[in-house]
Amino acid sequence: MHNPRQTLFFNLIVSAIAGALIGLLFGFAGWGAALAVFGWGLLQIRHFTRLDEWVHRGDDSQPPETTGPWGELFDQLARLQRRSSQREQDLLAAIQRFQQSSAALQDGLVIIDRHNNLEWWNRAADRLLGLKAASDRGKPVMNLLRDPRFIRYFRRGQYDEPLELQSPIDSDLRLQYQITKFGEGDRMLVVRDITRLVRLEQTRQDFVANASHELRTPLTVICGYLETFLDQELPRPLARALSQMQAQARRMESLVSDLLMLSRLDASNHIADEHPVNLHLMLTQIHRDAQALAQDKGHEITLEFDSELEMLGQELELHSAFSNLVFNAVRYTPEEGHIRLRWWVDPSGGHFSVSDDGIGIDPIHIPRLTERFYRVDESRSSASGGTGLGLAIVKHVLVRHGGKLSIDSTPGKGSTFSCHFPPELLISAGSQEQAAR
Ligand code: ADP
Repeated sequence: MHNPRQTLFFNLIVSAIAGALIGLLFGFAGWGAALAVFGWGLLQIRHFTRLDEWVHRGDDSQPPETTGPWGELFDQLARLQRRSSQREQDLLAAIQRFQQSSAALQDGLVIIDRHNNLEWWNRAADRLLGLKAASDRGKPVMNLLRDPRFIRYFRRGQYDEPLELQSPIDSDLRLQYQITKFGEGDRMLVVRDITRLVRLEQTRQDFVANASHELRTPLTVICGYLETFLDQELPRPLARALSQMQAQARRMESLVSDLLMLSRLDASNHIADEHPVNLHLMLTQIHRDAQALAQDKGHEITLEFDSELEMLGQELELHSAFSNLVFNAVRYTPEEGHIRLRWWVDPSGGHFSVSDDGIGIDPIHIPRLTERFYRVDESRSSASGGTGLGLAIVKHVLVRHGGKLSIDSTPGKGSTFSCHFPPELLISAGSQEQAAR
């Protein structure tokens, strides 16, 4: 009989019948049955008491040994106990392995709970951020990492991009913070020491800046002499050679000046000094320059200015970015093409777009267009006088203004390059004079 309840009930009936039969021998069948049932009840109470004592002991000892349905129950409990202690050991081993491996990590790892308090961190976080195991556990993360840029990053809740800051305990250490959400409102902060990378990057930037700067003086001298020679009466082959040299020297000059511009932009991801920029004036001038450049190609270039709101920013940088886009449109649009320049404002911010009906760009090239020296067609770009740095400059200028570049193009039909700026940079035209005052 496998059902313990049935077995117990059967035992009870058998005990009662046996008791009644024994009682019958003495002429008290009823008393015999009652005594047997009472004895059976006492036995159950004993088993129950042993089980209760074992459960309350709460240690690893084996459950009491017995036979029958209680014995089966105790055996089952023993099996469950063995299984759960095995699982506990496996879990403990897994936690220990996780703690050992995360302690060995070079990157700092910090777990922050849903109330923004520090829950756990590894040794590297200790070393990089100066967290103290005993006193800092359970404290709000923003009490320990107080840099306003970190607080803004933490509160924003959007962690697609990492944040770079100095270490709070050692200003020579440059750290990269990246937060990832998990569970229900918990966050994991990964802190990487990028001091070496930043130094290498700085060395690279310094080298490009110094090399470009050093190239500028000899180039100016060469261009100056070439101009003087070309003013003279010269035999035709020599004049042709010199004018080609002059064109190449001018190309080198624009390359050097673009490299210098890029190394200046590289220095920081934010503009240091923002001023009200008279976009109307700037775009009108760029429009005029583009018309002069496109004179031989018969382009129709239009400028639409749909908003009186203007922008805070760095005038030289914006001029360079906008003119790069406009001059590219002139270069990559065949004769009699149309180019449309447009400035407009909507709730998402200010936008400047340059559309052309030129050669267009294959979609596979678009993600790489803003890389330095990336060209769709090497021979066409060089022939058109491009340096290969124009769109890299545009991208950097936009990043420094908190903006974005979007490119929409169809081969053979044309392209639209749009610059999008955040609404906080927009100002009303009148406030320019106020700011100036
Ligand atoms: P470049 O000096 O070679 O023009 P850019 O960085 O300005 O360098 O542009 C990168 C590449 O993007 C160019 O070589 C060209 O192939 C492509 N490009 C840029 N603007 C346009 C445009 N308006 N139409 C078609 N292709 C373009």
